[in-house]
Amino acid sequence: MAQKYVYYFGEGHAEGNARMKDILGGKGAGLAEMTNIGVPVPPGFTISTEVCTYFYAHEKSYPPELKKTVEENLARVEKSVGKKFGDPGRPLLVSVRSGARASMPGMMDTILNLGLNDETVKGLAKSANDERFAYDSYRRFIQMYSDVVLGIDKENFEHELFALRDRAGVKTDAEIPAAKLKELVGTYKNIITGNNNTFPQDVNDQLWGAIGAVFLSWNNQRAITYRKLNGIPDDWGTAVNVQSMVFGNMGSDSATGVAFTRNPSTGERKFFGEYLPNAQGEDVVAGIRTPLPISKAQVIGDEKSLEETMPKVYKQLEEVYKKLEDHYSDMQDIEFTIESGKLYLLQTRTGKRTGFAAVKIACDMVDEKRIEPREAVARVEANQITQLLAPVFDAKEKQKALKEGRLLGRGLPAGPGAAAGHIAFNADHAVAMAKDGPVVLVRIETSPEDIAGMHSAAGILTTRGGLTSHAAVVARGMGRSCIVGAGALRVDYSRGELRAEGHEPLEEGDWISIDGSTGEVINGQLATRPSEIIQVLVEGSMKPEQSEVFGNFDRLLKWADEIRTMGVRTNADTPQDARVARLFGAQGIGLCRTEHMFFAEERILRVREMILARNEAGRRKAIDQLLPFQKGDFEGIFRELAGMPVTIRLLDPPLHEFLPHTEGQISAVARDMDWGFVELRAKVNQLHEANPMLGHRGCRLAITYPEIYEMQVRAIFQAACDVKRDGVDARPEVMIPLVGTVGELQILTDMVRRVAAEVIKDSGVQIPVVVGTMIEIPRATLIADKLAETAEFFSFGTNDLTQMTFGYSRDDAGSFLPEYVEKKILPKDPFESLDQEGVGQLVRVGTERGRKTKKNLKVGVCGEHGGDPDSIRFFRTCNLDYVSCSPYRVPVARLAAAQAELEFQNYEG
Ligand code: PEP
Ligand code: MG
Repeated sequence: MAQKYVYYFGEGHAEGNARMKDILGGKGAGLAEMTNIGVPVPPGFTISTEVCTYFYAHEKSYPPELKKTVEENLARVEKSVGKKFGDPGRPLLVSVRSGARASMPGMMDTILNLGLNDETVKGLAKSANDERFAYDSYRRFIQMYSDVVLGIDKENFEHELFALRDRAGVKTDAEIPAAKLKELVGTYKNIITGNNNTFPQDVNDQLWGAIGAVFLSWNNQRAITYRKLNGIPDDWGTAVNVQSMVFGNMGSDSATGVAFTRNPSTGERKFFGEYLPNAQGEDVVAGIRTPLPISKAQVIGDEKSLEETMPKVYKQLEEVYKKLEDHYSDMQDIEFTIESGKLYLLQTRTGKRTGFAAVKIACDMVDEKRIEPREAVARVEANQITQLLAPVFDAKEKQKALKEGRLLGRGLPAGPGAAAGHIAFNADHAVAMAKDGPVVLVRIETSPEDIAGMHSAAGILTTRGGLTSHAAVVARGMGRSCIVGAGALRVDYSRGELRAEGHEPLEEGDWISIDGSTGEVINGQLATRPSEIIQVLVEGSMKPEQSEVFGNFDRLLKWADEIRTMGVRTNADTPQDARVARLFGAQGIGLCRTEHMFFAEERILRVREMILARNEAGRRKAIDQLLPFQKGDFEGIFRELAGMPVTIRLLDPPLHEFLPHTEGQISAVARDMDWGFVELRAKVNQLHEANPMLGHRGCRLAITYPEIYEMQVRAIFQAACDVKRDGVDARPEVMIPLVGTVGELQILTDMVRRVAAEVIKDSGVQIPVVVGTMIEIPRATLIADKLAETAEFFSFGTNDLTQMTFGYSRDDAGSFLPEYVEKKILPKDPFESLDQEGVGQLVRVGTERGRKTKKNLKVGVCGEHGGDPDSIRFFRTCNLDYVSCSPYRVPVARLAAAQAELEFQNYEG
């Protein structure tokens, strides 16, 4: 059978459905599904994403049969609406829109009113009985077509439109009379001719020009940037939707709007949206006119809501949104048009939401019995949960600022969270300035070109546009604090000023604070305080029942815990970090880096004495003085994590990291050790290594200086025995770093066991001695079967394993890795997200070989990747027992581990 490239929808039946996003794109799948469930949708057809893939694979040409198929489907649309494409009497007009698998708001191109030419425009005027409307549609179409297909900057056309408004003495486009619009069409054509181009009068040329342009827009710069930021693969391609036009600009009983079935910022269960009377689709999304609220409940001041101006249509819209939410069991983001009092839906998709909204909606939907808890767990993007931990403004400080009259104005709260930063008036400046401190990007409105600047900003403020404007939609997706439509503020790009009545103008670089949860814009830098979650869990300054945010966070993570099979531990070196991690749900420590305990002022001197000692006796003396410090730290950690495993890694970094470097430091150590300055400096130089990360570090240190590890083991077990006597169940696991040979592990394990046994014997209590190894050298993964004869557990140190597998220095790779990602040599920075293809193989092989020797060998991971959701998914497929990550990533890892489990079980929702 010939491959199907085009899918029709109309008259209550569609060839596609919601599950076909891969080939129909999100928009096409939504249109098909809505048609199937009886929502009013203008008929049309979707050209599949496979055509886009074909297009790029075949020098930008189409499958041979496509032309005929498109003609057939166009004929079906003609029949359905009773109009003909290109008919000078009753012309069918269509929209041509992009639509990829994942939503890429505003990044690709769209053309409306296609099918108008010098003849059909007359027919449209006659059939609509409205000449003004027909010529307004025509001039819009020429402008869009020229911009998108012919590549002529839309500024040229807008300039003429504004000039015409001035000449006609009117304020809005709607007041320009038909005759003037006709003239404008002539002027527009001249602009095109002036650019050595022609506007096609043949409607079929128009159609194929538009289809090609939409496919080409898949690879425009802003789409590429957006895909990179959002991890969308470049080879997915976009679909093209060709759909019969309906008009929101046919007079006062027409309108266009967008809405969310629940509030996308807070998750509140209220229908929520905006509309523009007598306007066409893109006007709302573009954020050019500040739209009006759809419901009465949203009204501020004397605005007129859709509920009031068109109560009947509003009621119908309510029915439709409820039907859609019931059908999809998720919050929907819809686009609608009202043509002469008749409602049409043009899009439905799962609405983008903030982390706050995602968690609340998921929990609410469980309470409403729409979804099961495991579906709630599957839905919240794991990384988004960190938004709930982000700071908010300190209430007192904010009150004080408001009292001092520092409120510059208010806008719509579009992305929650507090941000204070230096003002940047354009995206490039924001990117540059963000290197030196937090930035708030302040714009009249944002457009897809601003994407990089928005990403580097801590917060975004616009003076125009509604909650569904580009700024709001993108900021929410990125989890940025954002305020839009702060209409009382004026941005003057030419003078580089932000003005608010009664205040001195602010300039680029000045501090500004925005509260994305309330919409307040405040002059100066406001201090922040911890989020409600931190207040409840860590500080205890808020009761759990006082915080809905905490309540939902806690419920969701408990559901996740019931699903996941992988443990989540933390990387912590202090009792305080261990406590925070436990409160966040960590089930033990996966990595305690003991060297971090050496840096405090009174300790570092002893460490330096240890390293620089002339002989073993001198070294032991310094080491003995370090022991009480280490022991104290371990005691604190064991008490915090009673009954949980605490994996303690013996000293790992190259000794030179502790050496005195400045002359002052060398003098101090020399004095203390009774050495001459010159002599000590010579010793320091002698210890210098050319490649310290590949040098005398990790277990290699203990092979040459065993007394260092001996002291650490003594401190661990003395601490464990001491707390055990107090009834605390201490469970140390000793971990040997950077092992590459069986000999290293054997010698050091014997040593650990000997010293531990001595301590335990003296103490009179019982503590199990567990000794394992880190796996972070490629060779170790290959001889894992032999290592497992000695080791009782493995923990993959994927930071070093990545460094040594690629041969990239962890410390210096930043100078070239971004370019590698840019040029697609690597899909992602392998230090951030595990290189599953290469390093991942070593993790898999190491685990399998280790377990061949010891069936129940416990295997975890403690590199940075332990907190990265994609890597966590991969680790689940390797059957790892646990991941370990920094305390603040523990909630992310709990959720990601549950999602990994669902995926592993092929859960599809
Ligand atoms: C690792 O290498 O992955 C690891 C956890 O150890 P460190 O980062 O301390 O080298
Ligand atoms: Mg390491």
